[in-house]
Amino acid sequence: MSQTDTQDPQATLAADTAIVRQYLDSALTADRLDPAQQAQYLDPIRQLMAAKNARLVAHYYTSPDLQDLAEASAGFVGDSLEMAKFGRDCDADTLIVAGVRFMGESAKILSPHKTVLMPTLEATCSLDIACPIDKFSAFCDAHPDRIVVVYANTSAAVKARSDWVVTSSIAVDVVEHLLEQGRKIIWAPDKHLGSYIRKTTGADMLLWDAACIVHEEFKVRGLLDMRRVYPDAAILAHPESPAAVLEIADVIGSTTQIINAAKTLDNPQFIVATDQGIFHRLQQVAPDKQFIIAPTAGNDATCRSCANCPWMGMNSLQSLYESLSDGSNEIEVDANLAAKAMIPLQRMLDFAADNQLQVRGRA
Ligand code: SF4
Repeated sequence: MSQTDTQDPQATLAADTAIVRQYLDSALTADRLDPAQQAQYLDPIRQLMAAKNARLVAHYYTSPDLQDLAEASAGFVGDSLEMAKFGRDCDADTLIVAGVRFMGESAKILSPHKTVLMPTLEATCSLDIACPIDKFSAFCDAHPDRIVVVYANTSAAVKARSDWVVTSSIAVDVVEHLLEQGRKIIWAPDKHLGSYIRKTTGADMLLWDAACIVHEEFKVRGLLDMRRVYPDAAILAHPESPAAVLEIADVIGSTTQIINAAKTLDNPQFIVATDQGIFHRLQQVAPDKQFIIAPTAGNDATCRSCANCPWMGMNSLQSLYESLSDGSNEIEVDANLAAKAMIPLQRMLDFAADNQLQVRGRA
């Protein structure tokens, strides 16, 4: 709220509306090429995909151009594990993974006999970067009485050092399962997601200290301002957001759960605390509803929304074309490491199947 409660409520609302409008005007939107630029790449990409029996799997956070191409070419758009599972189950010889590096690695682990290309190998993730295998392994060694549960947003080496790999939608179920067995847990790498799971389950969890640079920026103060302007809106938040944001959210969930909430809830507007790339899919599944990106900075900041992952943004039609045309940016995972990483991944898949849970998650 920008004015005090002692002032005229209408004037206060008008002032807050102006702030929110200014924020919306300055918020970033996902880059789109114009039709002429798209045409320059689309036909050659389609020809190369046909020649190489290749499929494109794209994350919800990538640009609409890539999401549309994946859908139009019998590829797939989804979260990281859905992408890897689609890649495993499809009959392509080559998978092109538009996302960040750990997603390419997961695809390779699940599809060792397929060629996995990425538009860029530079695209990484703050969670992956902040959890290097040497330090993480030493941390685990220092707490041998704890079972090791890691989020999908980790390197193949960190996955290989773990007992369980989980996505955001199955994490609570897995931790409850371990709690029933009386197990104490090491959780890595996202501290906000870890603390949300710990609070939800009551489990004894030792948390690694890392965060997603996108979700960590969402601000509760700005959200409260926005809710005042849009009283009928529901707040949808990803659990990588800070605890104060989650406390006022109406729905806390993975990307897929956020999309489902937008489809099923009656609210005319949604304030969304996750990467802005998801808006393309949200608008597709609920075209009559309004989606508003959650504020990521205070009123004095120059940037009002940083809700775009810089690494996801490195994927483009141009870089995809270049990778596909010369076979560059191939993902390789050492076979022994992949076999070790597959064990905790398979444990999650089996747990989900046994409990009829959807293994859906996010970046
Ligand atoms: S949005 Fe966050 S969690 Fe996803 S890839 Fe980017 S930095 Fe990593």
